Amino acid sequence: MHEIQFKLILAVLLLMSTDIRLYYQRNRKGFETAVIKHERREKYLIALFGLGLIPIIFYLLTSRLKPFSFSLPARVRWLGAGLIFAGNLLFIWSHRALGRNWSPLLEIRRGHTLITEGPYRFIRHPMYAAIFLIGIGVSLLSANWIVALSYMLPMTNMYLFRISDEEKMMAEQFGNEYKEYMRNTGRLIPKLRF
Ligand code: SAH
Repeated sequence: MHEIQFKLILAVLLLMSTDIRLYYQRNRKGFETAVIKHERREKYLIALFGLGLIPIIFYLLTSRLKPFSFSLPARVRWLGAGLIFAGNLLFIWSHRALGRNWSPLLEIRRGHTLITEGPYRFIRHPMYAAIFLIGIGVSLLSANWIVALSYMLPMTNMYLFRISDEEKMMAEQFGNEYKEYMRNTGRLIPKLRF
């Protein structure tokens, strides 16, 4: 396989992710915010994800990032493509389940409901899990340090700050209902039950 072929596959898969996001973002009309947390920090995080796209575009369109490539067997890079694809499917499933409750920020909307169906039956953050899968996939498929780091940096941030603040906000809003829900689900990986 030539690098150009991996680049093409990566471009197609990432266009799919972007399309999914844009599609659901359009369907989010009539959103009224009731509570918002850490607005400025969360906006920076979104900007950081946006900045992370620049190295990916450089990787896709030029060969300037070649010095930062690492060598991986072709089948591992294919596995990366599979992870991005799986991440995209999980992304769609999560968006469908969350519906109008979705927000790019940490917000509670008027008439917000607690979703425990679809992928939310197993994990509390399927959308973030999808973003993680896509990030690992992008790193393996591109086999490039700069691309991998530019995705990992905002993801680490999201894991360290956003997830726990989101759970705190949900627990404040939904009280025991959320705490009960937390007992039965994992954050990103389903809880094993025997
Ligand atoms: N963390 C979730 C949702 C991401 S979207 C995931 O990864 O799938 C972020 C918004 O989702 C937050 O502002 C919060 O209000 C909302 N949210 C998170 N979990 C929810 C749930 N179980 N039910 C309803 N809304 C939820």
